[in-house]
Amino acid sequence: MNVCIQQICGFLRMNMVSMRMLHGIFVYKIARDCSIIDPFPSCEKPLSRASAMPASKVAAPKAPFTNEEIYGRIQKAVLEHRLAPGTKLIEERLAEVSGVSRTKIREVLNKLAHEGLVELVPNRGAFIASPSVQQARDVFVTRRMIEPEMARLLSRTATSAQVRALRKHVRQEGDARKQNDRPAIIRLSGEFHVLIAEMIGNEILLRMMRELAPLTCLVITLYDKPNAPACPHHEHSDLIDAIEAHDEAKAAASMLEHLQHIEATLNFDEVKDASPDIEAIFS
Ligand SMILES: [Zn+2]
Repeated sequence: MNVCIQQICGFLRMNMVSMRMLHGIFVYKIARDCSIIDPFPSCEKPLSRASAMPASKVAAPKAPFTNEEIYGRIQKAVLEHRLAPGTKLIEERLAEVSGVSRTKIREVLNKLAHEGLVELVPNRGAFIASPSVQQARDVFVTRRMIEPEMARLLSRTATSAQVRALRKHVRQEGDARKQNDRPAIIRLSGEFHVLIAEMIGNEILLRMMRELAPLTCLVITLYDKPNAPACPHHEHSDLIDAIEAHDEAKAAASMLEHLQHIEATLNFDEVKDASPDIEAIFS
């Protein structure tokens, strides 16, 4: 790869730190010892843009969710834009709807905070991260650094089975578009890029893409223009064509152009608000 992985990791770490500082909120990260840091005091007060969870009571499920399932559901909800940036995640309510202890919920929230999807704010609680304009730009700068090179790598080694899997994924995106299932469209669009990282077989790249994809979804939730599409459907197909043809230069160029198109749909002048539906995530 042209870009050294260590440089990318350092760049990411640097950006994540500056992102949080610029955001103006002191963030508790990876509070391993939750007995020392309690981000959920009784006098919780939502952030101005945050929407508290509905007060309606929901019966706990018969079989409690595992930590992995809770993590997966929250992450999927972010990917599908069903949990808006700034949404408050109340530990007690999450425990109630998922049927697990508050300790397990706290473990999940700490993991999500470590990945930048959740912000743990002292004396206020846990919130779905709300990327600033600078953070949004940083996410795309990072993706432009990494993903064209990923496309080049895969086009060099792609097997026919991998190409078939990519085309199958794009067909699923197409089905979601036909059904006008926007949450599924958005999630599948993000997962397409993670799938490319999986096929390359580089664990570090894969980890980075698994963090960047949901962060991108938060950015799009906040800043996309009305009726802007997720990843343009034909661009994924064009990229697969280049990968199948083992055309490294074309694959890299297609990916770069694709990312630039997504970024061009963003409007950094406006910030939206939305209402959360926590119960729906665990229904
Ligand atoms: Zn895409």
